[in-house]
Amino acid sequence: MSKHSKEGKKFLSDKSKASWHDDTLWGVRKKRDRAVSMIDDWEVLRERASSVKERVLDNLEEYILQFENSARNNGVIVHRAKNGSELNSIILNLLKSRGFTRVVKSKSMLTEECSLNHFLEYNGIEVVDTDLGERIIQFRGESPSHIVLPAIHLKREEIGETFHNRIGTPAGCSDPIQLTAAARVHLRSKFLNAQAAITGVNFAVAESGTVVICTNEGNADMGLNASAKLHIHCMGMEKIVPTFGDLAIFTRLLARNATGQAITTYTSHYTLPDEDCEMHIVILDNGRSERLRNPIFRNSLKCIRCGACMNTCPVYRRSGGHSYRYLIPGPIGSIIAPFGNCQNVSKKSQNNQNERIYSDLPFASSLCGSCSSVCPVKIDIHNQLYQWRQILTRKKQVSPIKRVVMKFVGKILASHLLYSYAGKIARLAIRISPRVLIYNRLNAWGLERELPVPPKESFNEWFRRTQKS
Ligand code: SF4
Repeated sequence: MSKHSKEGKKFLSDKSKASWHDDTLWGVRKKRDRAVSMIDDWEVLRERASSVKERVLDNLEEYILQFENSARNNGVIVHRAKNGSELNSIILNLLKSRGFTRVVKSKSMLTEECSLNHFLEYNGIEVVDTDLGERIIQFRGESPSHIVLPAIHLKREEIGETFHNRIGTPAGCSDPIQLTAAARVHLRSKFLNAQAAITGVNFAVAESGTVVICTNEGNADMGLNASAKLHIHCMGMEKIVPTFGDLAIFTRLLARNATGQAITTYTSHYTLPDEDCEMHIVILDNGRSERLRNPIFRNSLKCIRCGACMNTCPVYRRSGGHSYRYLIPGPIGSIIAPFGNCQNVSKKSQNNQNERIYSDLPFASSLCGSCSSVCPVKIDIHNQLYQWRQILTRKKQVSPIKRVVMKFVGKILASHLLYSYAGKIARLAIRISPRVLIYNRLNAWGLERELPVPPKESFNEWFRRTQKS
């Protein structure tokens, strides 16, 4: 059993939570469908978004230079980081050199990618995640299980217990309104005492040097506008959009596709440093250039992190985000994970290591294509997963048993004669075998399914027989 299957099995052992998780995310998917159906030119928007990203990827370095120049002209300090270690060091130096020890941070998958929280905490900095879901999992020492809904794996009773232990809400209180009010009081004091604010970036407009941050809670804006004097925005190099006109396409797509909202509650543009404040932008590569050079997986850099491919994926919904063991779970995470972004290892061994560690993830998909059909930037997700399977199999990164079985099955499927004999034998075997041979503890497949009674003849046999008569 693969690691993903084992972790998924653990998640499924709590049946009521697993079915609630499945239903909730499917509810988000349905909300998304309703929001999308209200836009007549949705497919045109997707097409445009995809082609804008294509243009950006074709000329990425030029657009980054344009963005950097625009931002510098605005008085912003721009840094480039080759990898997570560099990004962490840049931020730590900025904080240390000013003697700052209190930081508020809004949601950013990129800082998760670099393990920034751990690094700063290890170096004596207090980092408070201010997105409610992120704060909950920070309290619990967990990683996000979804890129938009980081605490979706938790039920409100669990959150109530966490809040009781960490911020003293009454024992047994699981009322969302009371818990949210308590979180608000708790976070307000953090906002008012923060010396620095760190944010992620949803889009970076090359023509103006503007960073755009989308949140529903307004927490990024609170962090940047309350008391912090040092503002640091962390972005992946692929976040660039050329113009404000292009940005409008993405802001129409993002919230609708992510949560079914017409627009995120706060879509904030930051261009100039505030009076008495410093504004820094750190642009991270961390393996993105390598992915850009890869003709098969390059398109995965178009991702705008809406999370829709997770909400729709039957495997993600039923196995939970933590079963993927990678910071970005679900279909898009399964494409990125084998590339890897480990720190402190050479590029080659890093890649081999990640291919080995996450070799099961591209197989955690039914390849139904639902992910590709909801993707707002038209990434061919299921096709890339299929490509990874072939690459990993060629590189012998999948188990020898799986390879032998697949080779064997491949031979049967490639031959009409063998396929029809194998079908005959399988139908007979299922009919006459004692149940225990299929439904036993050693056969995980049989444990979860009841096979239908096989027909006496195959479709081919039926067709030949009925055509004759
Ligand atoms: S791959 Fe597409 S659907 Fe999935 S998170 Fe990225 S943009 Fe959204």
